[in-house]
Amino acid sequence: MRNETSIFWPSSHRHYISSLRLDVEETGLSRRTLSLIPPLLKIVDAMRDLESLPFTLTSELESLRRRAADTLEAIADTLRDPASTRNLYLRAQILRGSDHRQLAQEIMGSLEQELIVVCGRLSTWLGKSSGYYSSALFAVPDGLSQAISDSADDALPAAFEELQGLFAERLELRRHFPLQWARLIAAAGEANLYPKHFAYFLPEDEGAKYSPNKRSLVFMNTYHALFNLITQEESTNHLYLHDAELDMAEIPTYLVAWFRGHDLGHSILRPQTDFRPLNKVDRWGSMQLQEALADSFGLLLCNTRAWRQRLGMHSGMLSMVFVLEMLRYLRRDPCSFPDAGAAFIELQFLIRNGYADIDRETRKISTSSERLMAGIAALLDTLSRSVLANDLPATLDFIERYAPHRNSEALDELMQLLGQSSHTLDYVQPIFHCAGQVGVSP
Ligand SMILES: [Zn+2]
Repeated sequence: MRNETSIFWPSSHRHYISSLRLDVEETGLSRRTLSLIPPLLKIVDAMRDLESLPFTLTSELESLRRRAADTLEAIADTLRDPASTRNLYLRAQILRGSDHRQLAQEIMGSLEQELIVVCGRLSTWLGKSSGYYSSALFAVPDGLSQAISDSADDALPAAFEELQGLFAERLELRRHFPLQWARLIAAAGEANLYPKHFAYFLPEDEGAKYSPNKRSLVFMNTYHALFNLITQEESTNHLYLHDAELDMAEIPTYLVAWFRGHDLGHSILRPQTDFRPLNKVDRWGSMQLQEALADSFGLLLCNTRAWRQRLGMHSGMLSMVFVLEMLRYLRRDPCSFPDAGAAFIELQFLIRNGYADIDRETRKISTSSERLMAGIAALLDTLSRSVLANDLPATLDFIERYAPHRNSEALDELMQLLGQSSHTLDYVQPIFHCAGQVGVSP
């Protein structure tokens, strides 16, 4: 019952909430479609509540699952896009008890053009619980972000070649998967607790591991709100970048490129790289290093001429977005989130090797884009000769020097300077105003 201690995780004596309105205007969805979604959200909330009981109410859960499946099919019948319709029918079949691994893989086969739905059991935060809980997410495709992301993908071969030119060792871009950009319009169940994920890796987060078809689903409105309401407000107080200014109108392009860079960064390795031996010795350390590698390769991919020219980006603003996001992650709690641990490793490396400075009086980090890019390249160089080369002693030595779970004094000092943040987002869901407008009861 650890998962039920609080709706927030990790626990804190204070939680600061900003609201994001999940507007349903200009989604292209009919009133009929929108009116069918709110009852399903409440069914999923009820399923999630029943999962909190110390015993299983099998028949009650069964009947709620059937109601949820009926509603998904009713929604599917209001849609025009074949992929959206098909995937909703497949999700309904999963709820009716069909093989979820097989069907979740089939869902990955076609990208929805009208309505994207995840409805079923989803994982929560690592460290909070290893269980899967009833969740529902409804989103519409975000064409603008998708176009930016696809354009970056078109220039990927040239960008990767440039990236390879920065390193002596041969790198390999292993198989990578599509990234689907969407605008979230409704959420329920575990996925609507705190903090909310802005990205899911499917179907892995649904418990279907080793699927040959995968995709990342990113909610741009959530991601953008995290940047506008949390990163910008909190992290800018802690950063002085000598040669850059933040142009808020350009932020969406940078966020899309940065996320795609990080996502692809997970697939950039050396031919011999194998994380399994490290996982056996220090799983938490391994996860943090993998996130630090993805962050670092992601930044350098974004900074290649191929991507900068294609997307109209500048090194200064890229550096600013990177460091601001690094600070947002870091201030969450480096010992609870692998991404936050990675942020700690990156900042420790930059400061201890002279690529950034921290002023204890103003509590500001200062650097320039040139120093930052050089520092991140140096960090990757060190990691490519240790963890990417499967050199376990060198990797453990690196973890001893830079990882938060092995450096509690340095962690305490940095967290005292930067402060911990429990600032999170809540969703305001106007979609509930659509319920009953056409008198629907599924
Ligand atoms: Zn990652």
